[in-house]
Parts: sequence; C-alpha cells; structure tokens
Amino acid sequence: MKAIVLFGAPGSGKGTVAEKLKVATGYIHISTGDMLREAVKKATSVGLEAEAYMKRGALVPDEVIIKLVEERLDKGSPGDLYMFDGFPRTIPQAELLEKSLGSRGGKVDFVIFLDTPRDVLLQRLTGRRTCRKCGWNCHIINLPPKKAGVCDVCGGELYQRPDDQEATIVNRLEVYNKQTESLIARYQTQKVLVKVNSNQKIENLISEIRQILK
Ligand code: AMP
Repeated sequence: MKAIVLFGAPGSGKGTVAEKLKVATGYIHISTGDMLREAVKKATSVGLEAEAYMKRGALVPDEVIIKLVEERLDKGSPGDLYMFDGFPRTIPQAELLEKSLGSRGGKVDFVIFLDTPRDVLLQRLTGRRTCRKCGWNCHIINLPPKKAGVCDVCGGELYQRPDDQEATIVNRLEVYNKQTESLIARYQTQKVLVKVNSNQKIENLISEIRQILK
C-alpha cells in the first residue's frame, strides 16, 4: 500500500491536482473534505457532528476524521496507491496515517506541498463554485463552467460552499496557519516533503508532480 499526500492551504489546488493526477496515474483519491460533505448531505451521524465545525471553517475533531479514514483504508487492498487530499491536517492525524499505513506494509512516500501566495488563495476560494450533485469544482473567472450555474460534468446545480464565503475563508486560512502548517516540519524531518509552486498553469504543475512521483 503506497501513499502520497497533497498538502497545502485551502485554495492551494489540492482537489484540482487530485482530479487530474487520478486520471493520469491511477492513484485513489481520498479527500476527507469530500467525504464529510457527502456525510452532511446524507445527514449521517458523522455528517450531523461535522456540519457545525465545517460551517465556521474549524477543523472537525480528530476522532471523527481518524475513524473515517480507517474505515476507508479497511476497504482497500494491499496493492492500492492512495492520494490523500486535505488529510492529515493535525499531528494526531499524521500519526494515525503512519501507523495505519505501517500496519498494512505501506508508508507515506511523498508529501507534495502546494505552495501558494495568500492573495491567490483568497481569489481562488471566493470564486470557487461546486456541483451540489457530484462535487465538481470550477471558478467563475479562472475556469468558468460552459453554462453559468451548471456543472460541466453532470449538469447538476453549481453553488458556493458555505465555507467559501469570505468571512469563513479568513478563519480557514488562520486554522491552516495555526494547526496544519506545523506538519511541514514533521514531513521535512522525514525527508518526504517536496515543495512545488501551485501558482502556475495546471498542466505544468501536473507534469512537475508526475516527474517527482517517477
Ligand atoms: P476541504 O474540502 O479539505 O477544504 O475541507 C472542508 C472542511 O472539512 C474543513 O474546513 C474542515 O472543517 C473539514 N475537514 C476536512 N478534512 C479535515 C481533516 N483532515 N481534519 C479536520 N477537518 C477536516
């Protein structure tokens, strides 16, 4: 079981990179944010617990996230290649990931750090629109949908995630700076962190990352 982590602030492009890399490489995309949004939509017990945290841009408690990821890995097979997006976000989550992969004979091979200036993060997040049905993301200026308000992939309705509204974005970036950024040092020490400039054309970014994965 091999794994890479796409790491970076909200708006650094983790989801977009994951979608493209998935097609190009066969890595299985695991986004805890997508899993949580799905749980909220279905009003499962996890969804009901997570919703309030997500709305205010806070992190969902580690126990909830760890259970979600463990359950997902339990369904996997030994040869799987995983690409984590938005996970881990805290030291306990990183410890869990290492333990969990270790017990399955795997490890984190690379942590790809998508480095992005703050003004770019804000511009990307405020303009992001998401499909209510399939989760596809676009941007009203950088990557507009073919038809305004309609998902290119499934025809579903595009909406602005409640946590992509300006007041919440500021909080999410602060949470990232305070709680998540500290993981960089951990992964640097483990010599698995590779920093890439996320403020470049997506095609170039993807080929840079593919080069690293080779
Ligand atoms: P994302 O789609 O990755 O930006 O996640 C959206 C929201 O889901 C975050 O602002 C958190 O509230 C929650 N979330 C997603 N992943 C995690 C995680 N690994 N740990 C804690 N909260 C998370």
